[in-house]
Amino acid sequence: MSRPYDLPPIGGDPSSRRHGTNPGSFANRADLGGPRSFSSPDSPGMPAPSDRTAFDFLPPGWRRTPGGCQAPEGFAPVTQLEYARLGIATPEMRRVAEREGHLTPEQVRDDVAAGRMVIPANKVHLGYRLDPMAIGRASHTKVNANMGASPISSSTEEEVEKLRFAERWGADTVMDLSTGGDLDATREAIVGSARVPIGTVPIYSMILGRKIEDLDERSVLDALEHQARQGVDYFTIHAGVLREHLPFVRDRLIGIVSRGGSILAKWMLHHGRQNLMYDLWDEICEIMRRYDVTFSIGDGLRPGGLADASDEAQLRELATLGELTERAWRHGCQVMVEGPGHVPFDQIEYNMKLQRRLCHGAPFYVLGPLVTDMFPGYDHITSCIGATAAAWHGASMLCYVTPKEHLGLPKRDDVKQGCIAYRIAAHAADVALGIPGSRDRDDELTKARAALNWEKHFELAFDPDTARAFHDEDLDVDTDFCAMCGHDWCSVRISKEIALFVSGKEEAYAWERPRVSAALTHEQREILERRGVLAPEEIHRLAAKTRHAMGAEAGRMAACHSEQTDAEEARQLQAEQRLHPVTLEPLGEPAALP
Ligand code: SF4
Repeated sequence: MSRPYDLPPIGGDPSSRRHGTNPGSFANRADLGGPRSFSSPDSPGMPAPSDRTAFDFLPPGWRRTPGGCQAPEGFAPVTQLEYARLGIATPEMRRVAEREGHLTPEQVRDDVAAGRMVIPANKVHLGYRLDPMAIGRASHTKVNANMGASPISSSTEEEVEKLRFAERWGADTVMDLSTGGDLDATREAIVGSARVPIGTVPIYSMILGRKIEDLDERSVLDALEHQARQGVDYFTIHAGVLREHLPFVRDRLIGIVSRGGSILAKWMLHHGRQNLMYDLWDEICEIMRRYDVTFSIGDGLRPGGLADASDEAQLRELATLGELTERAWRHGCQVMVEGPGHVPFDQIEYNMKLQRRLCHGAPFYVLGPLVTDMFPGYDHITSCIGATAAAWHGASMLCYVTPKEHLGLPKRDDVKQGCIAYRIAAHAADVALGIPGSRDRDDELTKARAALNWEKHFELAFDPDTARAFHDEDLDVDTDFCAMCGHDWCSVRISKEIALFVSGKEEAYAWERPRVSAALTHEQREILERRGVLAPEEIHRLAAKTRHAMGAEAGRMAACHSEQTDAEEARQLQAEQRLHPVTLEPLGEPAALP
């Protein structure tokens, strides 16, 4: 029978075992080492990738060779980019390949050399507890968690605790954005404890205790050197906000929302001069190179509301970020570029693909973006929708947004909520992009769910405690349904019975002799009706009665569970009663047992 539909070309398979009936990912083919590495198909009108890479922006005296590059006589490499250009796979690149699974050390090296991947690993931090990771399109999508004390909230101890929480809940990097308390001590404590790369926005410490107008070249360079020596792995530097961009901000609804961007704009207006970070770029690059601090070139003019997205100020600054990327590569520095912010859903693809073009594939690190502005208190959700689209269309790292965004400093639980929302976004994109193996855990969980194996279900869940608590709140028993639909309406249980019947592992359809569960007794209904009102002890007392009624004492399957047939019995039934899996008609003479 011909199909009444056509499938798009299939890019790759996100499952390493090809379970299930899914044809695979609709993304472009992986194109590892190319400009379309794990990319979404381009909608009409989208900017094509740049045909240049970091190889086109070599330092003076370097030249391309068939195997990579040749440096001037006596040159000693320092940064991951320099090693990669010379064809050397460092221990950090090997560790990245180990963690990524689908990449070899040579592929990591080649993508770092092309500037399409960064390994933020300050030489100093590598001497502590840092576990090297990579950010780039060829690797899994990464998540950053922001934290930091403000002048009115939090302390060093609280920030270190938040760091542990962020690591526990899946943050791949953490930014210390402290603007209050003992900035130096907090930064040192965080770098000293972190297994993940740490980023900062050094301008915050530059203006602490002094007026913005008093910021000068010496204080900028000293602060960068100091933080690099402390072991910070990447710096956000807002060098792309130029004097000539500022007139384009005038008609915005909300002006400049980046702290660094607004500070530098005020400085430029006061002094009537160009952004001093832009003017100091070559000196800044020298410091970054010495410690291998990765650039995260800041987008000081990112939009702060949907109405300001993709405007002249934002996109002109993005072009400057491309120019700064080229200059940093000429100094041997690793570069990623920061992006917006607040962007309507339909403009996200354009924003991602324009950056890919203007910045020659340097990894894009985006904040959200939020796709609507009218849900304060829920901005981890409004932004994680945009973040999923951003990761699908071109971002390599997603900066989380917590429910406290726009409202206050995130507390520990807000960090957890933000991390989980963004792990969901990053993972959803990785599966869509067809990164090999990225769907394996989903498939395992689906199998556990289909088997109604609750233990395995919880074990595979990203947050097992919450999954178990939600399940047990209604029904504290291992049975072949849950309280959402109940026994008779549980489609998974019915499907499982069909499968068991077809395979010969069950004597008859269960729906011909349904077993009404004791779990739907009056008491159980009471639990469901009073959800959220009962104390946990009360829920467990009532649920334990249910468990007892169903013969499911500790370690035993409840009496109402379908899978009561043992393996030997199943083999006999299979031999006696072979049925066509679709028509359920007998297949004739039973086949001999293997
Ligand atoms: S009762 Fe409903 S929600 Fe629960 S396992 Fe069965 S089908 Fe899924």
